Amino acid sequence: MTTELRIRDISAIALEVPITRMDNPPESLPYYQELKSIVFGSYKSVVVKVTGENSIVGIGECMTRLSPEALVSIIMDVLRPILLGKDAFDTEVAWEEMYGTMRQRGHSKGYFIEAISGVDIAIWDLIGKTLHKPVYKLLGGKFTDTVECYASSVRFKRPKEVLDEVRSIVEEGYTKFKLKIGRGVEEDIEAVKLLREEFGYNMTIMVDANSGYSINSAVRIGRKLERYEIYWFEEPIPPDNLMGYKELTTKLDIPIAAGESEFTRYGFRDLFEIGRIDIVQPNVGRAGGITEVKKIISMASAFGIEYAPHTGSSSGITVAAELQMAASSANFLIFEHMRSAWSNEQPNPLGKEIMNESIGPPVKSKIEIPLGDGIGVTLNEKALERYRIK
Ligand SMILES: [Mg+2]
Repeated sequence: MTTELRIRDISAIALEVPITRMDNPPESLPYYQELKSIVFGSYKSVVVKVTGENSIVGIGECMTRLSPEALVSIIMDVLRPILLGKDAFDTEVAWEEMYGTMRQRGHSKGYFIEAISGVDIAIWDLIGKTLHKPVYKLLGGKFTDTVECYASSVRFKRPKEVLDEVRSIVEEGYTKFKLKIGRGVEEDIEAVKLLREEFGYNMTIMVDANSGYSINSAVRIGRKLERYEIYWFEEPIPPDNLMGYKELTTKLDIPIAAGESEFTRYGFRDLFEIGRIDIVQPNVGRAGGITEVKKIISMASAFGIEYAPHTGSSSGITVAAELQMAASSANFLIFEHMRSAWSNEQPNPLGKEIMNESIGPPVKSKIEIPLGDGIGVTLNEKALERYRIK
C-alpha cells in the first residue's frame, strides 16, 4: 500500500506552433488589429511533468497565451525547489506553499497561477497513475459517463458563411453552439436574428463578447438578446470590472457567464459575491489547477451557479483534466468543445498530437469520460519534441 510518494523531479516544456494562415481573431479584443500577430500568431502551450520516486510521470498543462518561457522559468526557478522531495499526496499543502511564495507580492493572478495550475494537474495525474485510478475517482466519483458538448465558436464572417457553418454544426449532431459577438449592438443583433430566422428556436445559442462591450452597450444588447432566447451572454465586459458585472446581472434577465479570465478561489469569490454571475467558466490550467478549481466549483454550487468549463485553445491535456472535473461535479452544466481553432485552415496540432490517446470529437454532441489512470492520457514524446521551442 502506497502511503507516501516523494516527488523526484519536475520539468516544464514550452511548445509553440506558428500560425501561417491566420484568420481574424475575435474583433472585440482591444487593439486586435495591432495585437493579432502577437496574441494569435502561434498556438502555445507549456506541458509540465512531475516524476515520482516510483518513476511514474504525471502530466499537466498551463494555459499559455504569451511567452511560454516565462511560465517555464516560474516552474523551474520557483515551484520546483518547493516541491522536490515533498509527498505528492499532499496536494493541499503543496498548493498553499506554492501560492504562499508570492501571495503578498501581487502575483495572485496571471502567469504565476497558470504555472501553479500546470504543476497541480501533473501532481493529480501522478497520484492517479500511481494508484491506478482516474482522477474523478480521487475527487469523489463521477455523476455521468458522458458529457454534453456545445460547438465553440462561430466567428464573424459574411452572413452566408455563418449560416453555412451553423448548418455543418447541425449536421455533426450538435444542438448547441456559441457565436462570437462584439462588433457592435446593431451588427450583433442582426447576426442573431438571422440565425433564429434560419434555424428557429430548436438550436441553443450562446454568445461570447470576449469582454468587448462597455456596460451601457452590454445592457442595450443584453436586452435585445433576451428576445432571441440566448442561453448565456459570456464575458460582456472586461473581467476587472466586477461592479459592472453587478450592474449587468441586476439589469438583465439573460444569464451571464464568465470566469475564463479569473484566478483562484479568491477571485471567484468576488465574481460570485459582487458580480453575481449565473454560469462559471474556470480553465483548470489557468485558475489554479485541480486542487483550486475543485474548490471554485464547490463554492459555485453554494451560490446556485452552474459550471461550464473553459477549454479554449488549450491542448488535449487540459481537456482531459477538465473532463475529470466535469464528470465529478454535481453542478456541471455543459462542456466546451473547440470545433474551430484560431485558424480554420490550420487547426491546432497541440489539441491531439501531443497525446497518445485521443479524446473526441464528440459523437452526437457527447464525449465519453476517459477511464484511464490519472487524467486518462499520456504524452506522445515524439510530437512533444516536434513542437518544443528549441
Ligand atoms: Mg470565452
